[in-house]
Amino acid sequence: MKTVNADYFDGKSARVHRVRLTLSDGALLLEGEDIQRRDPLESLRVSEPMGAAPRLIKFPDGAHCEVSDHAELSNLLRAGGHRDSLVVQLQSHWRWALMAMIITLAGIAAGYRWGLPAVAEWIAFKLPDKALAQVGESTLAFLDKGVMMPSELPRERQKALRTAFEKLSAPDDKEVGHEVVFRNGKAIGANAFALPDGTIVVTDQLVSLAKNDQEILGVLAHELGHLKRRHSLRMLIQGSIVAFGVAWYLGDVSSVAAGFPTLLLQARYSRDHEREADDYAAAMLNSNGISPSRLAELLSRMEEAYAARQKNQGEPDANFGGYLDSHPATSERIKALESE
Ligand SMILES: [Zn+2]
Repeated sequence: MKTVNADYFDGKSARVHRVRLTLSDGALLLEGEDIQRRDPLESLRVSEPMGAAPRLIKFPDGAHCEVSDHAELSNLLRAGGHRDSLVVQLQSHWRWALMAMIITLAGIAAGYRWGLPAVAEWIAFKLPDKALAQVGESTLAFLDKGVMMPSELPRERQKALRTAFEKLSAPDDKEVGHEVVFRNGKAIGANAFALPDGTIVVTDQLVSLAKNDQEILGVLAHELGHLKRRHSLRMLIQGSIVAFGVAWYLGDVSSVAAGFPTLLLQARYSRDHEREADDYAAAMLNSNGISPSRLAELLSRMEEAYAARQKNQGEPDANFGGYLDSHPATSERIKALESE
């Protein structure tokens, strides 16, 4: 005969009676030192299990029992064919299944939303300079093969812009290694971008689009901000981490590395990355007595030029679609810079 220990409250006094519960002929038999009662099962109401809290058995006259041993009580109720137990079981199974599903989905979403970028960031700051140099060089070589042409800017002009940029003090003490190079951007027009090794590429078209050198310095400061936070490298890692894992498993990592230049050009900076780079640029410009509005002014002219180019050429080259608007000069960014 199964028995379950319980605490009994008669509903009239606060006194606790230690009792034992047993089943007999479809009724619950309750026995304690100075108490005994017998109630048909269908007259009782049994609370659902809620974590570790004791389950309550309510009697029709207002008395109740508290049972801490859930497993024993379930066995007892099941033996008595208590109808609640099926519903309770289904409900608790259904709840657990749903909860498990929600937790799993949330885990995957969180992993994708925060885990992957966090892993990419971690790797980006751990990679040796040699690896960065390789990625940077192969990307520039790829671009020089046909996408871009040698710059037509006079050497003195290039040197003057480089020198002006080097003269600016960084907004924080930690210097970021970088090198400014110029190219004829051809189809990609007025643009600037930073490669993972610290190379900042500026197109001749961007230089001609600028109304003054402060605007160009603003763009360079923005690219330095991307470099500082290793944005392009992080995007590259994020975009290739799965392919890299597979390649690693198959023992053919070089095939993935060969795709880096294209991947880098297709990648798109997130809004957060743009904001970080703009904030960095604004801080750098401000600390050198230049208004961040200079950058905003060039951005809006770049946007106009981009729109005009799209109108003339129709859809941009698919390979460079992402790259062309990797610097979306949205009104939001322009507004933020003007208020800095
Ligand atoms: Zn940017």
